[in-house]
Amino acid sequence: MLFWKNKKEDFVIQCSTCEWNPDGGIHWACTCGHMWNTFETKAKCPKCNMQWTDTWCPACGKPTPHKDWYKTKEDLERIENSGDRALRAKKKKLESSLIGYGIKNYRVTHLPYLDHTKEKFHSSYDAGCRMIILYTCGYLVHNLEERWRLTEWLNNENLWNKVSPKEKDFLSATLPDKNTLMELSWGSEGALVLGWCLNKVSILPPLDIKNNDDAFAEFQSNVPEFGGPLFPFLNELKFRSFEEIYHETLLNEIVTSYFRDLLFNKQNDVTKINRSISYERHKTLNWLRTFYEGENEVTGDLWDDVDTST
Ligand SMILES: [Zn+2]
Ligand SMILES: [Zn+2]
Repeated sequence: MLFWKNKKEDFVIQCSTCEWNPDGGIHWACTCGHMWNTFETKAKCPKCNMQWTDTWCPACGKPTPHKDWYKTKEDLERIENSGDRALRAKKKKLESSLIGYGIKNYRVTHLPYLDHTKEKFHSSYDAGCRMIILYTCGYLVHNLEERWRLTEWLNNENLWNKVSPKEKDFLSATLPDKNTLMELSWGSEGALVLGWCLNKVSILPPLDIKNNDDAFAEFQSNVPEFGGPLFPFLNELKFRSFEEIYHETLLNEIVTSYFRDLLFNKQNDVTKINRSISYERHKTLNWLRTFYEGENEVTGDLWDDVDTST
């Protein structure tokens, strides 16, 4: 095993599967119960002296031979030149966004996962209708007395079919329950992210921002007023690049799994991400890419059924 004889600096330690670099943390547990940083002892447990041959990766969850983690310069060059270059660049971009938020141990192992060209998105018209409905319901949560007037408006503008059953219940209920109000009030975040997809918001605020009042003001100035005509607005909407939209989709999908894992492992949140905002973006962007073959019309039912599992 020649590699032990080389100097430490001659290597970069990284996972063969996902390219994660160990962060100096204590991620490994021995069968004797001891926990330590396995790269400090070349995978030998300092308590019971057990020599491990495979090392589990905290970022992708896959075990690979410990010696394979040590990459020479030549190894790294070879890895850099393998696979699809464009997808590799997307992987780097997505992972550095996550690291920027403090999520250090999540890596994309499967490059095709990053390929937006295999996805089918709803039309800009349908995305615009959903945006208006989310925006309207988010507003009506605080202005219940206007529900009747704006229900009529959505009807007259031919958007009623695109209102979800839950939203219809809210619009007609005498006294909507608290959970419904809470859920629908987050719809404004969904409207904002769709507004960004449709070029009505120039910059999507980061997930850890205190408030996104500026972005929301920009959004409001670029969409029709409540009760105003939606034609030709809805017909003239154009998407920004699907590459950008898909980056945001995957980012929020991974953030959602991060929070799910925290809950599962009873660990503390090390980010400053507003998880409700991220969840709402995840839900909305997942809806946007949920296109069914042979679909005739994007009705409101699809919204209530959108899948947010990761
Ligand atoms: Zn041990
Ligand atoms: Zn890995």
